[in-house]
Amino acid sequence: MLIIFDLDDTLIETSKCLTPYYLKLAFDSMRKAGLEIEEDVFDELVSMNQNALTSRFALKKFWSKYSDQIKIYDAGLAVMKTPLPEDLPLEIVPGAIEVLEELQEAHTLALVTLGNPHLQGEKMKKAGIQPALFSKLVIGKGPSKKLDYQTILTELKFDAQEVIVCGDRVPIDLTPAKELGLFTVHFRHGRGLCHNEPKADVDLSIDALKQLHEVFAQHEI
Ligand SMILES: [Mg+2]
Repeated sequence: MLIIFDLDDTLIETSKCLTPYYLKLAFDSMRKAGLEIEEDVFDELVSMNQNALTSRFALKKFWSKYSDQIKIYDAGLAVMKTPLPEDLPLEIVPGAIEVLEELQEAHTLALVTLGNPHLQGEKMKKAGIQPALFSKLVIGKGPSKKLDYQTILTELKFDAQEVIVCGDRVPIDLTPAKELGLFTVHFRHGRGLCHNEPKADVDLSIDALKQLHEVFAQHEI
């Protein structure tokens, strides 16, 4: 079997460890660029982010409420791409390394993540996820992962019925997988706690990575 993982909030604790830091950086940068709001309005950005599909969407929604000047939004967006500070801890999702190492013994693993290639690489390094665990690692440009999944299937020579995709955000990670006929596992974690629709695109729902073993037990794969 080929198992394709998402990175943020599936293998690493992005929402918990990194997002608050980057939102604050963006908030301060927008104020510095002239956005006239008080310091405590930051809480509103944090709460907008909780339901947003991405932190960028949250930033845009927040900015459009308080400003119509694009230079202010750009000032916030620019700092979202800055490198990770060395002293900022990044936790791995409980059980992620063990599950990857166990699965790798009998299966082929791949990883598809969206975002800035340098930053995604830095996150993996900081969290201690070895790129060598994956036969294929794709940092896509988005907005859909469909083409990335398709490319991996072709390159690694797997048929759709031999592939499992595991991710936290149903619309981003699983809907494109379902369109290709792949088996989908929704990890109810991080942003995935909110973005759990459409249910029709989810074959199995888990709240701990160790439950991935259920896929093999249930489906005799
Ligand atoms: Mg994710």
